Amino acid sequence: MELPFAEPFRIKTVETIRRSTREERERAIAAARYNLFNLRSEEVFVDLLTDSGTGAMSSAQWAEMMLGDESYAGASSYYKLKEAVKEVMGFDHFLPAHQGRAAENVLMSALIGPGSEGRGKLVPGNSHFDTTKGHIEGRGARAVDCTVDAAFDPTVDLPFKGDVDLAKLGKVLGERGRGEIPLCIVTVTCNSSGGQPVSMANIRGVSELCRAAGVPFFLDAARFAENAYFIRKREPGYDGKGIREIAREMFSYADGCTMSSKKDGIVNIGGLICFRDEALFRRASSFNIMYEGFNTYGGMAGRDLGALSVGLREATELPYLEARIAQVARLGAKLELYGVPVLRPYGGHAIFVDAKRFLPRVPREEFVAQTLGIEAYVEGGLRGVEIGALMADRDPDSRENRYPELELLRLAVPRRTYTDNHMDYAAAVMGSVLERRDRITRGYRIVREAPLLRHFTVELEPAGA
Ligand SMILES: *Cc1c(COP(=O)(O)O)cnc(C)c1O
Repeated sequence: MELPFAEPFRIKTVETIRRSTREERERAIAAARYNLFNLRSEEVFVDLLTDSGTGAMSSAQWAEMMLGDESYAGASSYYKLKEAVKEVMGFDHFLPAHQGRAAENVLMSALIGPGSEGRGKLVPGNSHFDTTKGHIEGRGARAVDCTVDAAFDPTVDLPFKGDVDLAKLGKVLGERGRGEIPLCIVTVTCNSSGGQPVSMANIRGVSELCRAAGVPFFLDAARFAENAYFIRKREPGYDGKGIREIAREMFSYADGCTMSSKKDGIVNIGGLICFRDEALFRRASSFNIMYEGFNTYGGMAGRDLGALSVGLREATELPYLEARIAQVARLGAKLELYGVPVLRPYGGHAIFVDAKRFLPRVPREEFVAQTLGIEAYVEGGLRGVEIGALMADRDPDSRENRYPELELLRLAVPRRTYTDNHMDYAAAVMGSVLERRDRITRGYRIVREAPLLRHFTVELEPAGA
């Protein structure tokens, strides 16, 4: 008999969470101006807002916290991390940063400029993450989405829906001179298109196009380990290979990467920027010192550098990744049992609910995915996040609302944090909203918004009121 699968860890510490009443939640979401980011965490029961910084650290990571060397320069914790970066990612040069967006700020300052030097310039890639886009567009440049068309069809089941369309990328690179394209950045896995992986063949293809055009090629490596797992599982020739071996091959095609270590670093805070080229590393160092801190700590405490050095290794262990991806898939399968429309194939870190199919009667101008997120919260204290028109923000030139092809409610699963019962609960909450969807016909309108990255702070009111 084949023995069933089980998590390769047991639980040593628990944290109490509380179920609230529907009346409490109705009051809480109104007080939060219908913005899920404004809820207090105590008002949430199962928090699938993000997998960022919400993972549970291992006892080995906590032990490393105690060994943290808090020296300003040359801390042993820094050297432990340097060794882990080399071993897992293969890069000789790296800078710590306090989180992923800080890494982006430093890299974009070095490659585009610290001010608005980006005007007229393009940064192609697969669907850029929102802060990446913020750092590009905040400098006057434009993020060009070259993701394959299949990524925008929620019903097609393809193994690598995060792939870059090489013809689209080739066109951008061919039309513009190298001076107008400061870099190309490919996000693995592609968060904005549904946590979908990018194949090794595609990474290699992008690398070749960029090299021929003289354009630096970077990976946004927040979920590189999950991407490596999918390559092992789905791409011919990689079955049986080690996750680290696959990860190092992915990185070998790039000139460097940024990484939010709050994802596949399994730490609560931290980030990285890696470089192949020493000259670029030196140029970026000046910005890192200005914005983040000296090169051997970059906005992180020694103990956090140490915990990350362990986290990078743990995140690239196959049994961990199998359990991780299986838990996310369990959530997806349970949702589908209730008839909830979700993106296929399931993402590595999250299940993306197709809000347009879920709530066909809510007009797109009233923020369909946000409406679904609010309903899920009120129904069962479940918090997801909108990836739709609020996040897509306004066109930087026309200031018109941008309506993306997909309106998604992302249910992101923190690493090693919730049990399968929590997944079953979350699915039941969505199933319960589905039962009354015919009565959900109106959404929300904006009362107040910021000029950039508005979804974090936007204030809304019911559109029908
Ligand atoms: C989270 C994330 C970032 C930004 O990182 P922070 O640590 O949140 O600043 C950038 N890119 C991707 C793909 C991410 O998921």
